[in-house]
Amino acid sequence: MTGLPEDCEVDILLIGGGVAAAGAAEELRRQGFRGSIALATRESDPPYYRFYLTKDYLRGGIAPDDLAVHSPEWWLDNNVQLWLRAPVQAIDLQTGTARIGRRSVRWGKALLATGANVRLLDCPGAGLHGVHYLRTTWNADDLRKDLQIARDAVVIGGSFIAAETAASIAALGVRTSMVFPESAPLARSLGGAVGSIVADELSRLGVTIRGGSIVESLRGDERVRTVVLADGAELRADVVVVGVGARPEVTLAKRSGLPLGTTGGVRCDATLRTGHENVWAAGDVCEFDSIRHGRRVRIEHDRVAAAQGRHAARAMLGSDAPFDTCLYFWTTIGADLHIDVLALDAPGHEVTPLDLTAHRDLVLRQRKRFGRTGGPEPAAFRYGAGGETIGYASINGALSLRAVQRDLTSVPDASSEGSHLLLEEKS
Ligand SMILES: Cc1cc2nc3c(=O)[nH]c(=O)nc-3n(C[C@H](O)[C@H](O)[C@H](O)COP(=O)(O)OP(=O)(O)OC[C@H]3O[C@@H](n4cnc5c(N)ncnc54)[C@H](O)[C@@H]3O)c2cc1C
Repeated sequence: MTGLPEDCEVDILLIGGGVAAAGAAEELRRQGFRGSIALATRESDPPYYRFYLTKDYLRGGIAPDDLAVHSPEWWLDNNVQLWLRAPVQAIDLQTGTARIGRRSVRWGKALLATGANVRLLDCPGAGLHGVHYLRTTWNADDLRKDLQIARDAVVIGGSFIAAETAASIAALGVRTSMVFPESAPLARSLGGAVGSIVADELSRLGVTIRGGSIVESLRGDERVRTVVLADGAELRADVVVVGVGARPEVTLAKRSGLPLGTTGGVRCDATLRTGHENVWAAGDVCEFDSIRHGRRVRIEHDRVAAAQGRHAARAMLGSDAPFDTCLYFWTTIGADLHIDVLALDAPGHEVTPLDLTAHRDLVLRQRKRFGRTGGPEPAAFRYGAGGETIGYASINGALSLRAVQRDLTSVPDASSEGSHLLLEEKS
């Protein structure tokens, strides 16, 4: 454990080493909080941006230090204690203590920002060597090592993480296939029109797309050699990467008796307070009463996690504003396809392509930024539900999301203290 003193006391304990906990630390100091703050993470790295792992970091384009949310000096200058390799095993809500190894930490208020873990592949052979997941820098380093000697890789899953990973592996010169049950990558979340743009781009980058495929088993000796599909096809594989989703990391919450919600996350009210008055949650683990959706939701995206960390910090300092946000995420697949999605709700499938005539200048400008070497043309889609616009997807910068964000936030409370215009916030 790095930096953790013997039994001690802190005013605010942030549990987790992702953008949510880092956002909370930053906001507490920004708001002028002068008490003691400690951030405990089970990882050996200070908080970093996971989104690089499937992109530049996997391709070897950036160094580990470039992933960091804050520089080493930031933690010192802001007097936030950083406890690395410090998994919190238990929190006692009655006494306000946390157990980290044999040490005991007394806290006044705590933030649960324990994020999510990868969903594991469940089929024969899933435990063979050469089968990888991507959540940490350690995972990415391990995968990169294996890719140096690989000829064939199979990426399992149709998510944005799987698509980004397949594009990066192909760029490293490894023959890459992508297998998933849907008709096209990302089709389940963004519909078939966006899915087919993604499929075309991946094919252009050399990835063999096998939609409509179910993996039956992985075969090999100690190492994986073959991926067997339900239709009997066998794909050669020296490396397999599984990208089939994530589950909220709630071990600690369960152990401490905090209520969980229907999505499996830690149940929070609209201000992100959990079932205990001195404990809040933020990020992938947080299921909150969303005033915007009129129900409880849990969102697994970088900007939202960071915004929730900042919001929880303000709540700890006395704000009772509800957390109110659109869903925003982006994905970059290879070097030439960038997709932004802004939605009030999960986009769904009522999709209309948008006429971009009115956005001509923007499209021309964006064409110079994105897709320079033959990637997809800028395009945009509107998502609807019952005649109402509930979201937009913008391909290669076709839309000004700041502008359409205003459409989507023209709902009650959008100007309240808790509302988050995510595109105006720096993550
Ligand atoms: C490979 C990858 C690519 C992604 N790409 C994108 C993208 O392009 N766009 C996008 O919007 N989103 C992307 N995401 C999602 C985004 O990274 C997550 O939404 C975000 O990381 C969530 O932040 P968090 O702080 O809630 O949790 P996490 O980042 O998961 O951090 C949780 C931290 O808590 C630690 N922890 C857990 N339990 C304990 C404990 N008991 N004690 C101490 N520490 C503990 C974990 O080790 C981890 O450090 C990507 C995610 C991954 C994995």
